[in-house]
Amino acid sequence: MVVSLNKRNIMDKTAPNNSTSIINGKSSNILNWDDVRFAWAYPKYKKMLSNFWTPFEINMSQDMRQFPGLSEDEKDAFLKIIGLLALLDSIQTDYAGKVADYLTDSSLNALMIILAQQEVIHNHSYSYVLSSLVSKQEQDEVFEFWRTEPILEKRNDFITDGYRAFAEEPTVDNLLKSVVFDVILEGLFFYSGFAFFYHLARNQKMVATSTMINYINRDEQLHVDLFVRIFKEVLAEHPEYNTKELETFVYDTFKQAVQLETEWARHIIGNKIDGILLQDVENYIKFYGNTRCKQLGYEKPYPEIDKNPLRWIKAYEEVDLGKSDFFEQKSRQYTKVNYTDNGFDDL
Ligand code: ZN
Ligand code: ZN
Repeated sequence: MVVSLNKRNIMDKTAPNNSTSIINGKSSNILNWDDVRFAWAYPKYKKMLSNFWTPFEINMSQDMRQFPGLSEDEKDAFLKIIGLLALLDSIQTDYAGKVADYLTDSSLNALMIILAQQEVIHNHSYSYVLSSLVSKQEQDEVFEFWRTEPILEKRNDFITDGYRAFAEEPTVDNLLKSVVFDVILEGLFFYSGFAFFYHLARNQKMVATSTMINYINRDEQLHVDLFVRIFKEVLAEHPEYNTKELETFVYDTFKQAVQLETEWARHIIGNKIDGILLQDVENYIKFYGNTRCKQLGYEKPYPEIDKNPLRWIKAYEEVDLGKSDFFEQKSRQYTKVNYTDNGFDDL
């Protein structure tokens, strides 16, 4: 049975403010945070706001001095990871907006809009970092990696195909499946990249960039949680979709995703980066595959991996940075020399 999703009305005089259902429900589209369908929505809203940050707070001067001294492999991995993240965050902005259209609940729409705004900031951070460290030409090349790097293309097509199915045919089934791809994008496909940056930071390299990555990581954790909640609410309201077929889909899709992320980690980290073992990174990817499947309500695909093998990374992932100087950034003022408008002032 294929059930299409209806878009939320711009206004519905006959419907309550507190919507009747997460999808295909009735909603006046008026947002009153004290009269919303889901009790978790307002705390989530507050948390998302409290995480607010912008790249302008990050002082890049130390990284500008260090970047030329990185090994060629480190520089290559650094730029390719940024290129990857730039593609993922770009499409993520658009995907969030499309999902928002079909949530018949004004508070969840609001959360999606904030999520999309945070993706815009993530994207900005990549051009901010690159305009500090490399030439405009090199920056442009990095933003083309998604087109020119075959291994990236394969990995990104995996996600974009999953999103496209929902965008082109918005059914309940395609929404649920696209959320699985979302959880992979926000909760797994960034993670070998994150590990690389935290590894640099633990060696006192590129600490400003890693601080920014940490802010992004912190946002992504909230995003994963939001999409997981949406997934579970849809299933709670429509238990007929909670099928063995969906479970198999989740399991198979995560297995493929872990495989793709592992290939990517081999490509960018391999055994080229001092002090980080590829085997540990591979198990770290499996560990996050397990974590995300559990969050969605399924069994772990890799039961043999029961703890995070990159023990040191916890300090970077779990710390609630707030506006503190965890990474010993003495100053977060915007002090980029000669790039008053992120490098675009000469256009
Ligand atoms: Zn993001
Ligand atoms: Zn996100």
